Amino acid sequence: MNFKITTIPGDGIGPEIVAEARKVLERVGEVYGHEFAFEEVLMGGCSIDAYGEPLTDETIEKCKAADAVLMGSIGGKVGQSSWYELPPEKRPEAGLLKLRKSLGLFCNLRPAKLYPELKKACPLKEDIAEQGFDVMMVRELTGGLYFGYRKTETVDGEEVATDTLTYRESEIRRIAKKAFEIAEKRNRKVTSVDKANVLDSSRLWRKIFAEEAKAYENVTLENALVDSTAMQLIRNPGQFDVVATENMFGDILSDEMAEIAGSLGMLPSASLREDSFGLYEPSGGSAPDIAGQNIANPLATILSAAMLLRYSFNLGKEADAIENAVSEVLAQGFRTGDIMDKEEKGLTLLHTDEMGDKIAELIK
Ligand code: NAD
Repeated sequence: MNFKITTIPGDGIGPEIVAEARKVLERVGEVYGHEFAFEEVLMGGCSIDAYGEPLTDETIEKCKAADAVLMGSIGGKVGQSSWYELPPEKRPEAGLLKLRKSLGLFCNLRPAKLYPELKKACPLKEDIAEQGFDVMMVRELTGGLYFGYRKTETVDGEEVATDTLTYRESEIRRIAKKAFEIAEKRNRKVTSVDKANVLDSSRLWRKIFAEEAKAYENVTLENALVDSTAMQLIRNPGQFDVVATENMFGDILSDEMAEIAGSLGMLPSASLREDSFGLYEPSGGSAPDIAGQNIANPLATILSAAMLLRYSFNLGKEADAIENAVSEVLAQGFRTGDIMDKEEKGLTLLHTDEMGDKIAELIK
């Protein structure tokens, strides 16, 4: 099949890690008989340098015209880069926020998987890490507290700040559908996380999830409170498959999940629209401290490319091939610097491009 992918390498290590993900996708195309047409665009600091703004209308149009977008990361070192002397709306990060909004991306996916070879990087107790985990966070991205009405006023001589948490039925329904569809491609369990013992918005959330669950008989729906989930993620993360939640709870829990997974360089992410379109990027930033040295870990971006194949192109077998290649490379003892354990014997340190080559070689 033929697919169009717009790539946004971005700043810092972005171009290095996107080049490796593209190499792997090209190999997938060769092995499985697909044609991926790539178009590269600028966003972030490099776009400020070229056009005076972090995101141009042309870049937005080129993203919209694609079947999916693969991104590296954007931004520089705050305090050192002249990009941060600009007003906030002209800085690199403003480009990313505007792009997500322009593309209507409301569903954020962040998987946290513990690879057996990287268990030592997991901060959980050894007996818990030993059991492993593979959790997918599905977070609502465009509603709730962060987008609600807010104000700060003076009442009776003191300052009073108000934020409002609003969810419409339709906003909950579309994220519930995504969560169940994703669970169908995984272990068929959704844990919907809320605070229904206190919040009205959570009670509506729970009701709509229960209604939507009826259309997915092969998926089990569980409800959990957010405080209890924060605890259970530390105690027994292996119990979870898909965790679905609203914007702020998801913001907090997805960082907790990233932490227990141990290695930032291994964490992919996706932001999806209602149809199959999505933007895929590693969870980490542009790592200006190691940019241009060919030492960044490209695996999170390569795993983001696997998510792109699975969720935007419905190419599950091809996505499995990439994910299996990553597991195999780790099992063979190949590492980039960030996931290297100096005390472990038999490991081989690879550069960014060598890691990309290894994964591409293993695509079968
Ligand atoms: P960062 O994630 O870039 O770096 C944190 C640490 O992790 C650094 O030591 C870095 O070297 C390391 N690291 C990150 N990714 C790595 C990889 N793939 N391989 C090896 N090591 C890796 O976070 P930061 O330093 O706080 O931010 C740097 C810039 O990135 C800032 O401008 C920030 O705004 C931006 N940022 C962008 C995104 C995005 O584009 N979505 C996300 C987060 C941060």
